[in-house]
Amino acid sequence: MRGSLKIFTWLGIPVHIHWTFLLIFVYAFWLGHSNALGFWNTLWITGFFLALFACVLLHEYGHALAARRYGVRTQDIILTPIGGVARLEYMPEKPMQEFVVAIAGPLVNVALALVLYLLAWLLFSDEHWFIFQWLMEQHLLFGQGEPDELSYALAPLASGGLFYLSALIAANVALVVFNLIPAFPMDGGRIFRAMLAARMSRVRATQVAAWLGQGIAALFIAIGLWQGAFTLALVGLFVFTLARAENRNVRLDSVLRRYKAADLMRPVFTRLTTTDWMQTPIHQLQASQERHFLVFDLHDHLVGVLEEPSILEALRRRDYAAPVEKYMRPQVQVVSQEAQLEYLYYLIQQQGVRLIVVARQGELAGVIDDAGLSQFLKMHR
Ligand SMILES: [Zn+2]
Repeated sequence: MRGSLKIFTWLGIPVHIHWTFLLIFVYAFWLGHSNALGFWNTLWITGFFLALFACVLLHEYGHALAARRYGVRTQDIILTPIGGVARLEYMPEKPMQEFVVAIAGPLVNVALALVLYLLAWLLFSDEHWFIFQWLMEQHLLFGQGEPDELSYALAPLASGGLFYLSALIAANVALVVFNLIPAFPMDGGRIFRAMLAARMSRVRATQVAAWLGQGIAALFIAIGLWQGAFTLALVGLFVFTLARAENRNVRLDSVLRRYKAADLMRPVFTRLTTTDWMQTPIHQLQASQERHFLVFDLHDHLVGVLEEPSILEALRRRDYAAPVEKYMRPQVQVVSQEAQLEYLYYLIQQQGVRLIVVARQGELAGVIDDAGLSQFLKMHR
């Protein structure tokens, strides 16, 4: 994502933060300043926010590691002030797998809430005071404390720690509840779709789930406006927009599922030779609709692709007499004519491939480029 910075890689997955994430520190500072909380309390608030985002990060790792079980890789995890996203290569298709991947995130927060609860109980419940007593008797806390001054000295520490842990537990519970709302883009929407998809087609299931999501979002907006709870109304608006986008994606999905490479390939295309001068493609670019070209060697073997940016680069340098070989990319993406449109979409939209070669029984049958794909989708959606 643009404007994001990699902070580390854990378990083979790079973690990025979006620059707006820094607004959290600004917010913590503002909270501390406007309530005159002082330096240490402001630091505590900042620490609380960071702990909260660690929980969000672990939630995303839940999705990513569940997906890994099914052989789906995760490009990266991005943290923004409004939450995290684990960018999976794709969502597993089988309802059971999607169900597991979607529910893994909220389950992490359930586990975290339980662990934090256990921690609070171990540290701060009455029968466990002895941990602190022991620490103090060993002079590890507060230096030389008199035993009867113990509870007096410990009270603020205990109430502070307890408050901190309780707030984190509450936050994790809230994360679970919010994410289980059965509306896209929340995990609940995916879980609901996966459950429907066990009984009907995935496309139909997505449609029903998206409708329900929009309904719930509309309810949020109505209640929010009625009660003057504008945050709720905003969340509703956010969910509504994303549920609509998901609904549109369903239609795209169904098109992507119905067609194959053979349906949209272009059988007629210009063939360049490695020794051609760059003048030829420069002229072609101006005279025709073709943006990218296949390059063959003198034995008529396909050896590379010449893409529009490279041609423009040659034009900028007035490198008209250079051989095509100098500007071509030696990698060629070949697919069979039976390849799903979905896969072509992935190659072009996500991998940035500009020209795809379609093969029929080992023979070159045609090409598909980015412009051809968008044109096809515009016609069929
Ligand atoms: Zn999630």
